[in-house]
Formats: sequence, C-alpha cells, structure tokens
Amino acid sequence: MTDDNTHYKVATKMIHAGVEPDAETGAIMTPIYQTSTFKQQSPGVTKGYDYSRAGNPTRAALEKALATIENGNYGLAFSSGVAATDAVIKLLSPGDEVIAATDMYGGTYRLFAQLFAKFGIVFHYVDMKDAENIRPLLNAKTKLIWTETPTNPLINITDIEAVSKLAKSVGAWLCVDNTFASPYLQNPLNFGADIVLHSATKYLGGHSDVVLGALVVNDKDLFDQLYFIQKSSGAIPGPQDCFLILRGIKTLHVRMDRHCENGEKIAHFLRNHPKVAVVHWCGFEDHPAYAIAKKQMRKFGGMLSFELKNGSIEEVDRVVTSTKIITLAESLGGVESLINHPARMTHASIPREERIKNGLNDSLMRLSVGIEDADDLIEDLKQALG
Ligand SMILES: *Cc1c(COP(=O)(O)O)cnc(C)c1O
Repeated sequence: MTDDNTHYKVATKMIHAGVEPDAETGAIMTPIYQTSTFKQQSPGVTKGYDYSRAGNPTRAALEKALATIENGNYGLAFSSGVAATDAVIKLLSPGDEVIAATDMYGGTYRLFAQLFAKFGIVFHYVDMKDAENIRPLLNAKTKLIWTETPTNPLINITDIEAVSKLAKSVGAWLCVDNTFASPYLQNPLNFGADIVLHSATKYLGGHSDVVLGALVVNDKDLFDQLYFIQKSSGAIPGPQDCFLILRGIKTLHVRMDRHCENGEKIAHFLRNHPKVAVVHWCGFEDHPAYAIAKKQMRKFGGMLSFELKNGSIEEVDRVVTSTKIITLAESLGGVESLINHPARMTHASIPREERIKNGLNDSLMRLSVGIEDADDLIEDLKQALG
C-alpha cells in the first residue's frame, strides 16, 4: 500500500496499513526487530534508526498503521494506554487548565487527580453529555479538553464536533479517548478532535494478550511535541508487542462487526429481562444521545452496562460469579466475553461519592460482549440471572 492510501476502503486499510512486504526478504509480515541499537555508517549517519527508544522499525510500521486507520497524519505508540495519556498531559505546564469528563476510565481520573494535579495542572470535571456544560469553564488558561465517547462504563456519548468547536474557541486541544469505539466505528479527527487516544490493549489488539497505548494526530507541530515526550519519557512499547497490535488490526473490522452484532442482541435480551432495571447501550433508539452516536459512529459497539432491580451487592456477586462462558475480569475488547463490577474493579480508584454523583452505582455491571455465538452468551446470562 502506498502512502497515498486515503482512497482505499476500510477493510483494505485494516489489512495493509503500515505493512509492506520486507524489502530484503519479501516476508509478508513485518519482522519483529528485537534490537535495542543500530549500526551507524559513521557517527550520526544511520539508516533512519539509532536507538530503539527513539525509533524501531516494527514500532514505525505500527505507528503508520495507527495513523492510517484513524484518518490521521501521525501515530505514536506507547507502553500502555495510560502512558499515552501521561504523554498528552506532559504537553502542559503548571497553571494550565484541563476540562475533563466526569464519566471516564478510572485510571485516567487517577492519573489526573492523584498524580498530575500535584504538579500544578488544574483539572475541572464536567458532565459532557451536554457540551454546553463546558462553556462556563473556558478561559485563557484552558489548554486541553479531555473526553471519552462512548464512556466507560455508562456508555454516555459526547458530541465530538460540538466540543471541538468549544476547544477551538480558546485555542485548546481536544483529546478523545476512542478506545470503546475503535477506529473502525469512529474517527474523532474527522469531527475536529486534535488528538485521538487508544488503549490498544482492548479492541486493536483484540486477543487480551498485550498492553499498549496509541495517539494519533494531524498537526505536525503537535506530533513533534508528542514525539519529543515519547522519546524523552521513554514509555515505548517493545517490538514484539507492536507486532501483536499490527496483527490485531488486520482483523479489527471483522471482529468489530461481530462484537456489534452480538452486543445488539444482548442489549435487547437484557432490556427485556424481568430482573434487569436498566441497560446502557448507545444503539437503543431511545438512548438520550442516539442521534449524536449515529452521526459520529458507524455502528454502536459491543460494550454495555446494566443494573438489576435487586441491586444488592450479594445479587451482583451471585450474577458475576455464575456465568460460565463470560469471565469475571477487568479489561475489554477481546474476542472472549468479560463481565466486570466497576465499583470494585475498574473504577475502584474513583471516590464512592464522586462515582455515585456521576451515575455509576454500586450495582452496575459492565459487559464486554465477545465474538462467541450470541445464543450461547444469552443462555449463559439467562442462567446467571436465574
Ligand atoms: C483500558 C483503558 C485505558 C487505559 O489503557 P491501558 O492500556 O490499560 O493502560 C484508557 N482508556 C480506556 C477507555 C480504557 O478502557
């Protein structure tokens, strides 16, 4: 695939992005360049690589692939999703202000509130279901708006286009955590975002066997700043992990189609179950932001969360330990279905009061719907709900 690949359709991009047959051997798969350093012809004269923290050919192939599938110009890979978040915040200086969504990945909140706040970066948290909630906080010190859509775990939707206009009005960057949608379902740069973040650990890898993070941007100056941070802070992924994500991307579109199909069936099954009080899934036509989801997403994904009418902790424990195919575990986006209790697992680092104020109740359960047979998954939930 040539650099001018913008006209290819999505399935072709997923399979060929970033990857060329090896020039020397013809190998179809990108080699794992398991090397820390590279021979120099004379001091400072290289074949493009000098040391693997600054650059490695397997990582370079992945970074190119990430940019291609997100419709961006530049990709950067990190040792984890939170390392990518860490790099974005390092663009800022003490006194700079960030407006972040109240409903987001617990580890993002922990990094902001418990680590970066003490370096003098000011974080404001607002409910971004309504973009207008951001406006009163905008000022000359606002440097970054941070959102996630759909959100983890309440499947709230942010209107990327509306928030990007607000960010631009004060010259701030908008960073969108696109982990839940994946680049197959949503491309935030198309709607005015400046930075897209992925925990590639999830759908991009797709097989629950690697931890990796990614950023994609369009602007050269922003890329240069982020590359400087990547090289200087050093939170880079190893070549083997980059290879695994490159391999995952090749089947992203096929897996996502099945995640979406199964997600839809399970969302409807749960909604019609007499013991279920509420199901959060953005593909329901009566989801409060269905129209926005439809505008910015191609399909609605395989992530959902739900609460029981009997919301006692004992009942939650009974359900999450009774499933036979669906496994109780943190993480999401793999081929296998996982169930999680956010209050005590993924979101335990958010103070209970904050959590409940934002609508994340003690009894909420999150499902990452895998690509097993949907009938088997429904049977499993049926017997677990009892
Ligand atoms: C998992 C996750 C992260 C963090 O990524 P890691 O790869 O675990 O560091 C960030 N955002 C979202 C939405 C996630 O689900």
